[in-house]
Amino acid sequence: MEEAEHIKDSVQTCIDSHKDQLYSLSLDIWSCPELSGEETHAHDTLVRFFSTDAAWTVEGSYKLPTAFRATWGPGKGVGDGDEVPVVNVGFLCEYDALPGIGHACGHNLIAEVGAAAAVGLKGAVEKHTDLPVRVKITVLGTPAEEDIGGKIDLLNAGAFADIDVVFMAHPAQQDASFLPCVALDGPIVKYHGKASHASAAPWEGVNALDAAVLAYNNLSVLRQQLKPEWRVHGVIKHGGLRPYIIPAYTELEFYLRTPLVKDLSDLKAKAEACFRAAATATGCQVEITYPNPAYYNILPNDTLAKLYENNGKALGIQFPKQPSKFSGSTDFGNVSFVVPGIHPFFYIGTEAPNHTEEYTEAAGAEKAQLYTLRTAKALAMTAVDVVCCPDLLRRVREDFSQAKVKQEK
Ligand SMILES: [Zn+2]
Ligand SMILES: [Zn+2]
Repeated sequence: MEEAEHIKDSVQTCIDSHKDQLYSLSLDIWSCPELSGEETHAHDTLVRFFSTDAAWTVEGSYKLPTAFRATWGPGKGVGDGDEVPVVNVGFLCEYDALPGIGHACGHNLIAEVGAAAAVGLKGAVEKHTDLPVRVKITVLGTPAEEDIGGKIDLLNAGAFADIDVVFMAHPAQQDASFLPCVALDGPIVKYHGKASHASAAPWEGVNALDAAVLAYNNLSVLRQQLKPEWRVHGVIKHGGLRPYIIPAYTELEFYLRTPLVKDLSDLKAKAEACFRAAATATGCQVEITYPNPAYYNILPNDTLAKLYENNGKALGIQFPKQPSKFSGSTDFGNVSFVVPGIHPFFYIGTEAPNHTEEYTEAAGAEKAQLYTLRTAKALAMTAVDVVCCPDLLRRVREDFSQAKVKQEK
């Protein structure tokens, strides 16, 4: 077998030769920001991108209206018989934007990284046919990361069932092979009281705004007793209609986050006690629901992370010795509990935080392209390591099982 390094050179050449198409793909998605679950333009743009090469089998609206799947292979391995194992490498694209501020999380660049890494790996595997495995590539377009967690629906629908190892990367303020992403669940709390004239007969009313305010304050008191990494934050979505009516209905939306998914139920129980206490105190009825599935924390995979770092360093990526403690959440967490994978973060040329207008600008700027394509190369090169060395794939799978056992303890 040829040296993995030669194959990695082909990955780089192939991605570089597609750089104009990749930037216009990313810019096209960036120019037309769409909210979670409504990403029809991004979906169509990505489907068109893969459909221009007949070697890809492209399925639009795959299992979800704005999800897609593009598959290639299996390519040839040494011997090319049925006895040569197939390794299915997955790359994920996200492409939802934020209300009001467009692609402020840079998901257009996530789509570009996924597409670029897939194109790069395919080009390299087509050129080097003496691999110990037959490589298959699956690109999944996973909508609605910011909101309802499209990856969780795709997981439940079996979209990840035949994928052996999965890759994506997310824009950030620094390069890191792993940053902790925390588990998240989001209750909606509804208080039902009774309207009354707020001046003439307030005693006839049951004040749902009082319940909402007490709940907010209960949680503020609770916060001091929580572990430092736990997070509780929310908004009052409905606070009543007019000052002259005792509010009969209010609604809160909260996010509850813990570093490990196994601790989420403790935090939920504590928060729910705060919500219920406010109802008891005011005489309101309370309804607590969780409209979306919980996001899991990301399970680390040390072997993949190390390989990614080595490949990244070879491309000039500098990884800070002490990466910051990011504590956002992603539906990739749920994926990481089912398929071994990594979700590195990458610098895009700005120190501005995600979810700001400055970040939106940076995500569309040409300056981000160098960092984006470098990240795609490092991911595809990590995939090359895995498909060139069956022993590495075995270690990746071992890491996955061990990390899962460790987290469940
Ligand atoms: Zn994001
Ligand atoms: Zn975001």
